[in-house]
Amino acid sequence: MTFTTRFAPSPTGPLHLGHAYSAMLAHDMARAAGGRFLLRIEDIDQSRARPEWEAQIHDDLHWLGLSWEEPVMRQSDRLPAYRAVLERLWQEEAVFACTCSRRDIEAAASAPQEGARMGPDGVVYPGTCRACRSAGGLHPIPSGAALRLDMEKAATDGVSFVEGGAGPEGETGRIAVSSTALVRDIGDVVLARREMGTSYHLSVVLDDAAQGVTHVVRGQDLFEATAIHVVLQTLLGLPTPVYHHHRLIRDDQGKRLAKRDDARAILTYRQEGATPADIRRLVGLTP
Ligand code: GLU
Repeated sequence: MTFTTRFAPSPTGPLHLGHAYSAMLAHDMARAAGGRFLLRIEDIDQSRARPEWEAQIHDDLHWLGLSWEEPVMRQSDRLPAYRAVLERLWQEEAVFACTCSRRDIEAAASAPQEGARMGPDGVVYPGTCRACRSAGGLHPIPSGAALRLDMEKAATDGVSFVEGGAGPEGETGRIAVSSTALVRDIGDVVLARREMGTSYHLSVVLDDAAQGVTHVVRGQDLFEATAIHVVLQTLLGLPTPVYHHHRLIRDDQGKRLAKRDDARAILTYRQEGATPADIRRLVGLTP
């Protein structure tokens, strides 16, 4: 199988040093393996995605010397594909409708007998709407509700994946996550947000499979979410790629770079006269 990887930015702000590192690392790995490097625009959050940021991403990546296959996949073009999978999961009663607000969830999860537990998506869902669901698959998907994965149903066996890089605690090699941990530490994650009709987790899994991605190269901040992605791959009969989580580029105070951190934007470095080789040095890709 040809080594295939991708860089999957969201066009919600300028590319910064952290994105440049991720893109260059994935690109270098693909070139070294004689493989494929793809770009995917993760623009499901239409309230934040902007065409000008998307254009800037292309421009900055070209300037860095990267090239990728055309056409570029855009998640906003894939909503019918996501919907078809949600319909299937709904029929199978693998997902349930949830009308809880964030405040409802926080209140229920921090009730004295529960105690709020934090998962990859924030507070682990306390199960409110799972308990009161009606015969799911028989009715059409209700509009105006989020759809959550029934983790207890989906995670009967636990999952595992190969980590070729390292998680935040140095986790590497074959990583196993038990069904108990999936239910307790991750829980019923949202697969379709009310206002989006999909979610990061569902889209990323379907797109990686559709693009034939064999190696996912991305930041360590997404290591914890990987178990969710493998649960979904198992549920949907999709292959699990090898994961390669990489270190995060931090600012001088050791804080992770954020989108709004314009000082580290690639565009700012370009305007100040930096070269692509300077960027490679700054992120530690060349000595
Ligand atoms: N779109 C995600 C981000 O901007 C990356 C998703 C991934 O690589 O799986 O952080």
